[in-house]
Amino acid sequence: MSGSVRERRRFRQQSRRNLTAAPTSGAAVAVVGGGLGGLVAYATLRHVGFDDVTVFGTDTDPAAVWRERAAAIRQRFMRSESDGHVAPASFPGLAVRAALRTGSPGPLLRSVADRYNPPVDDFLAHVAEVRQRTAWDDALVRARVNRISAVEDGFDLDGRGVFRYVLIAPGHPGLARPDELAGDPRAVHAYEPHEYADNVEVVGAGMAAATEWLNALAAGANVTSVRRREPERRPLNLPRTLFSRRGLAAFHRTPQAERIGLLRRYSAPSYPPGRRWDEPLERAAAEGRFRVSAGLNGATQVICATGFRRGFRHDALLARLVDEHRLETAEDWIVLAPDSTIPALSDESRTLALAGVPAQWAFPAADTLAGMKYAAHRFAARVVACPTP
Ligand SMILES: Cc1cc2nc3c(=O)[nH]c(=O)nc-3n(C[C@H](O)[C@H](O)[C@H](O)COP(=O)(O)OP(=O)(O)OC[C@H]3O[C@@H](n4cnc5c(N)ncnc54)[C@H](O)[C@@H]3O)c2cc1C
Repeated sequence: MSGSVRERRRFRQQSRRNLTAAPTSGAAVAVVGGGLGGLVAYATLRHVGFDDVTVFGTDTDPAAVWRERAAAIRQRFMRSESDGHVAPASFPGLAVRAALRTGSPGPLLRSVADRYNPPVDDFLAHVAEVRQRTAWDDALVRARVNRISAVEDGFDLDGRGVFRYVLIAPGHPGLARPDELAGDPRAVHAYEPHEYADNVEVVGAGMAAATEWLNALAAGANVTSVRRREPERRPLNLPRTLFSRRGLAAFHRTPQAERIGLLRRYSAPSYPPGRRWDEPLERAAAEGRFRVSAGLNGATQVICATGFRRGFRHDALLARLVDEHRLETAEDWIVLAPDSTIPALSDESRTLALAGVPAQWAFPAADTLAGMKYAAHRFAARVVACPTP
């Protein structure tokens, strides 16, 4: 086993140990945001014995938002690996499940070498199973929370109730589009449903852009990749060290100004290395059907693989929370404790935590299933430690 694999296993064991204490009563618990991050938190709370959890969300299906975006770019395999799932414990991961289902050791062998990317269909079937097994639909209140106010011993959510423990998992605050393409009828965002024209320009250089190059080429289009810099190539969306205890501890020790710089650097576009990506591009380039350009050149369709708007200010709930409670921020980020809680609003009597992309200050890869687990486990550990009122 490589050092990094051993390190990650130790890290997961530590997370599990944090959750072994028996739960106490008296904790009113809410999750705001009913996407994958909300499901991971909810399933983790159920796993440690809390049945009385309220989830506020906009969709009944926790995969609704993700499913639509993944379908738009025709994603067939996860970028994450076996442990990129929504169940509370890391084991069994999606590779073990696939091996048991198919009777083939292939997924396990590839997983040991960090080379197993589960099919999207398997992942979605697993989400549906966890949703059903945990009675998610019974916990869900279909409502958008517009305001979270700190009150004595808890948080008032829009007047719907006071909860001592609240985890906010609101997802990304909308799609990012280049200003120069505003109102341009040729432009479509990669995460919105679309077909391919004969001549396609793809703006961006991350995983969605790379997926779109291959999709458009397979559909017979001529493709121009519009990008200002060369993308990084790495299997996961951030360096593996940031998923380990040691790498994360180093990040947490980094002074604020430097930390902002790191988070900006980590958000640079990247997609995985490998022949699966390179060969179709090399072939198409040789045929004159794929090229790279620094600017737009008047193609009939422009696909904006430009990801999401960045920063808590684009999320009305978070912006209001920060302004009304004068929370500490650092440029685009809300400053969090290493356990993903908001320090000014969390003590032994109550906890307000973030998960998903707004939790990057605590875990740079917060917008991954591993990041969601990180926040969920630490949140559940605080609920478990809750003193009986
Ligand atoms: C195409 C694509 C592929 C990806 N592939 C991978 C992968 O392979 N592996 C991996 O680990 N990660 C992957 N990710 C990253 C991550 O898993 C997704 O971004 C995931 O959807 C994030 O989950 P979330 O719960 O934070 O946000 P979302 O899934 O967007 O869910 C947030 C939910 O909360 C609701 N909400 C927001 N505000 C409120 C409010 N105030 N009150 C009530 N409800 C609210 C929203 O309407 C939404 O339903 C991928 C992302 C994309 C876009």
